[in-house]
Amino acid sequence: MTFDLKDRVAIVTGSTKGIGKAIAVGFSEAGAKVVVSSRKADRCDAVAAEIRDAGGIAHPVPCHVGRPDELERLVDETLKAFGTIDVLVCNAATNPVYGPMTSADDTAFDKIMQTNVRSVFQLCNRVCPLMAEKKSGSVIVISSIAGMRGNAEIGLYGVSKAAEAGLVRNLAVEWGPFGVRANAISPGLIRTDFARALLEDPVRLDRATNRTPLRRIGEPGDIAGVALFLASDASAYVTGQNIVADGGETIS
Ligand code: NAP
Repeated sequence: MTFDLKDRVAIVTGSTKGIGKAIAVGFSEAGAKVVVSSRKADRCDAVAAEIRDAGGIAHPVPCHVGRPDELERLVDETLKAFGTIDVLVCNAATNPVYGPMTSADDTAFDKIMQTNVRSVFQLCNRVCPLMAEKKSGSVIVISSIAGMRGNAEIGLYGVSKAAEAGLVRNLAVEWGPFGVRANAISPGLIRTDFARALLEDPVRLDRATNRTPLRRIGEPGDIAGVALFLASDASAYVTGQNIVADGGETIS
């Protein structure tokens, strides 16, 4: 079965809640062994236990993606636990500033770029060569539709998300000859803590719902389905793409 991930090993960064957790749980249901990761060790343990209780195989590894030594440890611990890496999902991201870019200082710029962009660069530089050795692997980066247009509120975040989509295209070019695929997913508004400020404002929520052709806010599972496609052999001929999952918002 093409969507089957039986015995594939997947790392999902930022997988203790929201979109990352839905992806980790979905991958496990499809047969993968998953590494559950975020900054908080107790949350990693809890989500890994949840997956194991449901009959899956999961290993918790705490990792702040903005810290290179912790990214190294994430890879090392995964190899120690499962011996290989088949799927890498770069999902963890941050958005510490709101408002025009002139109101953000260099510290905010560096934090956004380190957490959202440099971490993908560093993790892929470590993991893609391992995937290339066995001539197969899938990298999935969770970008955003915020990376596809300008935004007066979350501009720098959008710039980082555009950079992620650019990284994916280059990874696809550099690693394609070695059997490694790389794709991005650009979600629209998804019901998670990340988007809580907007979701809790009835006026903005109503506006967002009404400008979406499907007339609803996305759920984490809506993104997990796309990730499952990209992780599995169902997408064997898909690489370098940015798949938009936004209920049609950007085409309306
Ligand atoms: P979320 O519900 O807030 O979950 C974020 C996850 O990442 C948590 O597990 C969090 O756990 C972890 N995390 C945060 N900072 C981290 C760091 N520096 N290092 C490692 N882990 C970290 O967010 P989400 O909405 O699922 O967002 C996931 C991805 O989707 C992000 O890349 C975001 O840009 C993208 N996205 C979201 C939306 C949306 O509307 N929600 C739309 C478009 C794109 P800890 O706090 O324990 O670290």
